[in-house]
Amino acid sequence: MSLARTLLLAASENRWLRENGTQLSFVRRAVSTFMPGETPADMLTAAEAQARLGVGALFTRLGENVTDMREADAVRDHYLEVISLAQARGLACEPSIKLTQLGLDVDPEAAYRSALAIGRRAVEAGSYFWVDMEQSSYVDTTLEVVSRLRKDVPRIGVALQAYLRRTEADAARMIREGIGIRLVKGAYAEPASVAFPDKAEVDANYVKVAKVMMAPESRANGFRAVYGTHDTVIINALERHGDANGIGRTDYEIHMLYGIQRGEQRRLAEERKNVRVLIAYGSYWFPWYMRRLAERPANVLFVAKSLFR
Ligand SMILES: Cc1cc2nc3c(=O)[nH]c(=O)nc-3n(C[C@H](O)[C@H](O)[C@H](O)COP(=O)(O)OP(=O)(O)OC[C@H]3O[C@@H](n4cnc5c(N)ncnc54)[C@H](O)[C@@H]3O)c2cc1C
Repeated sequence: MSLARTLLLAASENRWLRENGTQLSFVRRAVSTFMPGETPADMLTAAEAQARLGVGALFTRLGENVTDMREADAVRDHYLEVISLAQARGLACEPSIKLTQLGLDVDPEAAYRSALAIGRRAVEAGSYFWVDMEQSSYVDTTLEVVSRLRKDVPRIGVALQAYLRRTEADAARMIREGIGIRLVKGAYAEPASVAFPDKAEVDANYVKVAKVMMAPESRANGFRAVYGTHDTVIINALERHGDANGIGRTDYEIHMLYGIQRGEQRRLAEERKNVRVLIAYGSYWFPWYMRRLAERPANVLFVAKSLFR
């Protein structure tokens, strides 16, 4: 892992920076590239603009590791309300939640019940329910919760991280259980004992697992294969693999983050129908934003430039 990435990921977990960095106006200006605003209305307006470009949306209210159960319950109620708001506007906008935002660290059973309520509401609204993947210490619990939810929430998927050594086996299990997968590279600082330390190894594992997800036997029971990446080299390689094996480009989806690779998002949307962006909003954006900077340390220059704007 590069030094810049290590430092930015360490900053993402620093409480002082979180409380003070977010008050700086130049940081707030810079974050707006990746975030349309802090309110659900900002998110829905952005989702409508994306829909006009032929790009679908997912939404996530920023927040993680909530320890106050009243706050966690308020997060659940917030998602229930926003699913209805999206439905009322006729938007194909899917919720994507973090279990620790629903109080997983404090009361796992209550977090499960909240996830169940959100998942059921999403399915009733004709939508789909996504569960994000957090640090490696949460993978076992997250997969257990998702497996349990699958019994009552038929339209459910989970993010799996290609940097983890275990992901190939986890993907096979999710496919067997009929749970959709959004394959991402992984955004947290992880030790080499659980994660591939080199980018080349992560990329190779991504392609390996992606091909398993694309195989006809995986897709036989309506399994939803989603590639959550901005890596055009990987997207092109997967398209070539799919084309060569008779797999249609509408049989799998590409999801990106709002504001990243906008040109590529438009290009993909023009040639296929199944491109979505994950739109994040809310006031708790500091750790999430630091992870975005860590993905591309050149973004720090962008923040620095906005200081002088
Ligand atoms: C829809 C979606 C959902 C996600 N959900 C999760 C999750 O649940 N858990 C999790 O751990 N991670 C999640 N991630 C983040 C993911 O793990 C990666 O950290 C992130 O996507 C960067 O990896 P990449 O695949 O784009 O490849 P990279 O090799 O990091 O990037 C490829 C190219 O994309 C561009 N790029 C990538 N990131 C940025 C950026 N921040 N700013 C500007 N350009 C950039 C650059 O041009 C870069 O060269 C999600 C990502 C997406 C797109």
